[in-house]
Amino acid sequence: MGKNARRAMAAGAGMTGRGRRAFLGLGVAGAAGLILSPSQAAAAEKLKSPARIVIAGAGAAGLAVAAHLAARLDGARITLIDARRPHFYQPGFTLVAAGIKPTAYVVSTTREYLPDGVELVEEMIAEFDPEGSKVVTADGHVHPYDFLIVATGLQLDYAAIAGMDTELIGRDGLGSIYHSPAKAEATWRALSGFAERGGVGIFLRPGSEMKCAGAPLKYTFLADDYLRRRGTRGKAEIIYHANNKVLFSVPIVHEKVRMLFEERGIETRYQHQLAAIDPGRRLAVFNTPEGQQEVGYDFINVVPPMRAPDAVRNSPLPWREGAWAKEGWLEVDKHSLRHQRFANIFAVGDVAGVPKGKTAASVKWQVPVVVDHLLAALAGRESSAAYDGYTSCPMITRYGRAMLVEFDYRDNLCPSFPGLIAPLEELWITWLIKTTLLKPTYISMLRGRA
Ligand SMILES: Cc1cc2nc3c(=O)[nH]c(=O)nc-3n(C[C@H](O)[C@H](O)[C@H](O)COP(=O)(O)OP(=O)(O)OC[C@H]3O[C@@H](n4cnc5c(N)ncnc54)[C@H](O)[C@@H]3O)c2cc1C
Repeated sequence: MGKNARRAMAAGAGMTGRGRRAFLGLGVAGAAGLILSPSQAAAAEKLKSPARIVIAGAGAAGLAVAAHLAARLDGARITLIDARRPHFYQPGFTLVAAGIKPTAYVVSTTREYLPDGVELVEEMIAEFDPEGSKVVTADGHVHPYDFLIVATGLQLDYAAIAGMDTELIGRDGLGSIYHSPAKAEATWRALSGFAERGGVGIFLRPGSEMKCAGAPLKYTFLADDYLRRRGTRGKAEIIYHANNKVLFSVPIVHEKVRMLFEERGIETRYQHQLAAIDPGRRLAVFNTPEGQQEVGYDFINVVPPMRAPDAVRNSPLPWREGAWAKEGWLEVDKHSLRHQRFANIFAVGDVAGVPKGKTAASVKWQVPVVVDHLLAALAGRESSAAYDGYTSCPMITRYGRAMLVEFDYRDNLCPSFPGLIAPLEELWITWLIKTTLLKPTYISMLRGRA
């Protein structure tokens, strides 16, 4: 191993906590010693290894891991498996559903980001066999591995809401920004109709774990502001249904959102979980501690329960007990993201069974940790790289304003720009980050450059 490579390894091994960093890496990273961009990695000598590495899922996390590994390894066989050809920039779905960006803003292709030397298998994995160290695709192809990185994201469980039909999104006041770019746009049309006519607008979040827990709140704020701008807010009731007793898991953020909702006349109902919907009659049914409650609506943004994809959920990989067992999240150590029972398996992104971190911003900080542990295993050293739960949510509170909410496992706020961008202030600069700077940074992350 050359001097540069040794230096890079040593820097990586020293990484633990956070220093100054920024949402998706806009600022000076606390983990800077660990993350080598491809050009830095090229300067460092690559680690020679014949290892077979399979990455399950080519979304935000899978592509970013592939880019880092391709830059750091020489001779390894890296296989990325995912049948989905388009790539969706999901943090932009809210912007599409609010009429701020066109659908094209969030759609590209997986192949655009495929690193040299990485093989893409356009199939879905149907079976994970950790005892046999192999995965089997739906087409029956077997892929043995020395290391597996599970980056399959999560599954939207619309079927768990009785009467829900995703084909109807965009009609009769039925919206759902999570489904896809096309349905986010259809939701924008439904919201526009609501803004014209007024009535009852229903907003909610599911009782399950979910990606970007701030998105349902952002969309409520945007709807409120949009109606004000159209001059029809007086004709509308806006009601937010929280799944439990809080609006956000971080207490100080809950309190801030609660105050803003109150200020803006957004009614909040706690411990309400959507159980059923009758799109024809525009009726939503919520489970509450007092039993089921029917609520009529003129517009609704359905956010479905979320869980691990079936292939993962039906495998030996999920937690077998505790909070994450039922939804099938991977049983990994929350700091190393390494599987607790299968040492050659890691999870990155939404599928990881950890207390926080289902955002693209979290992926940015999880990827170098997993990569360092994997490289360490190949090089016969220990890695002390640790993910601290960093999660970020630029919470839009109106058109032109947002709050940059960043926190970790311990619910500490960890601002990227202390003294410059206050986390709980509604600022134009944060809006600018969300609407213009974030996407290029995300793309850089996919290419392993951020
Ligand atoms: C409406 C919305 C708003 C959001 N807002 C923000 C935000 O403001 N900020 C932020 O940081 N994040 C936000 N996010 C969250 C962010 O997009 C996700 O956390 C991120 O994309 C997670 O990356 P991932 O790779 O884990 O999953 P994904 O990017 O979803 O990729 C998973 C991939 O795995 C593939 N896959 C699934 N099953 C299999 C299988 N069996 N075999 C092979 N491949 C499989 C899928 O086809 C997919 O390509 C938002 C998401 C949504 C939907």
